[in-house]
Amino acid sequence: MRKKFIIGGNWKMQILNVEEAVSIATELATTISGILTETVDVFIAPSFNALYSVGQAIKGTKLKLAGQNMYFRDKGAFTGEISPDSLLDAGCEYVILGHSERRRIFGESDAVINQKVKKALEKGLKPVLCIGETAKEKEEGHTETVLRTQIDESMADIPREQLNLITIAYEPVWAINNKFLNPNSEIKTATPEEAEKNHIFIRKLLINKFGDEGKNILIQYGGSMKASNCEGLLNIGEINGGLIGGASLSAEKLKPIIEAAV
Ligand code: PGA
Repeated sequence: MRKKFIIGGNWKMQILNVEEAVSIATELATTISGILTETVDVFIAPSFNALYSVGQAIKGTKLKLAGQNMYFRDKGAFTGEISPDSLLDAGCEYVILGHSERRRIFGESDAVINQKVKKALEKGLKPVLCIGETAKEKEEGHTETVLRTQIDESMADIPREQLNLITIAYEPVWAINNKFLNPNSEIKTATPEEAEKNHIFIRKLLINKFGDEGKNILIQYGGSMKASNCEGLLNIGEINGGLIGGASLSAEKLKPIIEAAV
């Protein structure tokens, strides 16, 4: 059986107007229509202002929509937050939760992320749960402890029958193309060997925690994935796709990564 892949484009705060977002999304939807197979899912996560228009533009195509974040309550006086129902209204199927930029810049804890994961599942959104260690944590030999804590706490009390709706995105923070999070260190993609080691470890954590159900949870790699390095990474057994920032900002850049997965 062919391995299942999920390729996600995380547009962060990079595409600033609706017209441009719709144009890229439409081109991407056309590009993938001829190449996508049943074993590959592709989503994009535009900024909130463009979510609805992009959702309308890609409706009925194979391209899926994701939110970049979400609050864990349905509705109310929560200035600046977005409800799961608003994501659903815009046409989202996925929601990225616990991205390292949310964790490290906006101070989201595993406990908060756990509430978000549970709320997303309750509402029928598929969470893409991000985990990963910083450069400092890696240098100090804490990678495994960090990953274990993040999995344990952000995946606490998840109903077993919903585990297959969750995708883990392993994104070593030192590999994310983000000068703000990595001010003093060079940003490098994880080598296939490094990525493989940590993906195998995450798989073990998932199996220890959830038994056989832990075997089927998809684990994406994220951090400077691009055309020139995607094949080496996607060929690794425990890597089920990628969460891609910079190389998802045009159809031209994302296409070779999708092609490597199909
Ligand atoms: P990058 O971002 O591909 O630009 O490194 C990945 C991510 O942060 O999801």
